Amino acid sequence: MKAIEKHHVLYPNRLWTQYEPGKRLRTIPELIVPLYHGGHDRIHQELEQVPVLDTYTLDRLARDYEPVRDNPIFSIYALQTAIYQATNFNYRASKVSRMLGEVVCEALEYQVPIIKQSIAK
Ligand SMILES: [Zn+2]
Repeated sequence: MKAIEKHHVLYPNRLWTQYEPGKRLRTIPELIVPLYHGGHDRIHQELEQVPVLDTYTLDRLARDYEPVRDNPIFSIYALQTAIYQATNFNYRASKVSRMLGEVVCEALEYQVPIIKQSIAK
């Protein structure tokens, strides 16, 4: 039997738990994916960290983001959309904030194919 590990798509813990809305986002059940060890290891080896978003964007996500029930992949896509909306349709969002949002979306995108391959159903 292969080992199954719980992967938080928003990692590492020490970065994402500094600010309460970030911590809440990180612990949404749909954003914690059961992965077989090989794929899990690969994600962490190839992608050191998912950079944390700014606090304004995290506030917006805490209010607006809705995961897709029991569907981690669609929940990741919904998170990318929510980040895009929070950083592009918010008068307070600076260019830097938008760029940071794009980097986080990219880090999520990077994980999707590996998650699809390694998800333990
Ligand atoms: Zn992990």
